[in-house]
Amino acid sequence: MHTVRFPSDELPVEVIYSPHRHTTVSLEVHLDKILVRAPRKVSADSIKVLIERRKSWLHKRWQALYDRQRRQVTANADPSCTGLWLFGNPLNADMIYNSKATYIVRLESNGRLAITGPSHSPREPEAQAAIVAWLKQQAQQVIPNRVQQWATQMGASYGKVRIKNQRSRWGSCSSQRNLNFNWRLVEAPDYVLDYVVVHELCHLWEMNHSARFWRLVGLYFPQNKEARTWLRQNGMSLLY
Ligand SMILES: [Zn+2]
Repeated sequence: MHTVRFPSDELPVEVIYSPHRHTTVSLEVHLDKILVRAPRKVSADSIKVLIERRKSWLHKRWQALYDRQRRQVTANADPSCTGLWLFGNPLNADMIYNSKATYIVRLESNGRLAITGPSHSPREPEAQAAIVAWLKQQAQQVIPNRVQQWATQMGASYGKVRIKNQRSRWGSCSSQRNLNFNWRLVEAPDYVLDYVVVHELCHLWEMNHSARFWRLVGLYFPQNKEARTWLRQNGMSLLY
């Protein structure tokens, strides 16, 4: 049924009609959906209007839920946990303390980071900044290549690819055919990055989210539903 657009993706709305006449309409925010309880006489259209009107409130509630869940995860984290991800896996770091002011971040063959610098924990703000800078470099290396590969396969021609630091979008496509991508996509699994790349490339042909647009996405990337679900369930935790 109706979906509500949040930054990472669309959140589905589920309506449960109550047999009782005197119930009022209530909105419940869950991580994976918005649950509406309404008396039978309330039309789908008026529920739609209500959701639109309360969209910013719903968004705030959802964000608060997500933040709470993230804090719980963080609280049990082991000391090498960076709280950041790489290609869909949690990224852990071994700290090599060194009193010099600069940080050296290196990916080891076991998939962990080795961080040399003046922090004892990868969660200290300076160490976090060094890891984020390293992730942005990864994004610069990985994303433009991936765009090129997909564009070749799809026969699409685009302008420039830019890697951006966006809080509320995964990607965008301008009318000048330039493509922007969020560096945080390197935190997501490969197939999610591929989906966002294909999604933006399809906007070169369809500058909207019409049925035709989604047919194109489905044609080039049949796994798009799984990727959108992943973004809905995990996406916000990457947008800190
Ligand atoms: Zn789009």
